[in-house]
Amino acid sequence: MQESASGTAVQEKVCPKCAGKLVQRKSKFGPFTGCGNYPQCKHIERK
Ligand SMILES: [Zn+2]
Repeated sequence: MQESASGTAVQEKVCPKCAGKLVQRKSKFGPFTGCGNYPQCKHIERK
């Protein structure tokens, strides 16, 4: 299992906007997948 220093799990998918790594994040609305290059890239995927 890979985890970044901030504790977010690294996804196998990549960002369609910047080809960066997508990471699993949590907000008060629930978990979501966002670009690891945030805030430079604000791509977000919801399921
Ligand atoms: Zn991105």
